[in-house]
Amino acid sequence: MRFHYRYVPLGAVILALIVWACIVVAAFRRGSRVSVCPSCGSDRLRPSWPKAIDRYVMLRCGITPIRCEACLFRFYIRKPAGNSIRARGVP
Ligand SMILES: [Zn+2]
Repeated sequence: MRFHYRYVPLGAVILALIVWACIVVAAFRRGSRVSVCPSCGSDRLRPSWPKAIDRYVMLRCGITPIRCEACLFRFYIRKPAGNSIRARGVP
């Protein structure tokens, strides 16, 4: 069977779309008021500095990056209403 290189970009695009969809679904399932890290359970969460992909893709989808200060795990949550990001869920 011959490998068709012309399908590699199409495969990369499909893979990127699947990864993006998984991130968006996980962020919307978490909601906008997350109080603990999903990796280690710590409550030391802060908004993460947006990367280029965040600025152009993720923030427009209504999700925002959060960083755990205990284990440095980075994850996404649904963007809260308004401009403030309250990762701890406490006003
Ligand atoms: Zn953590």
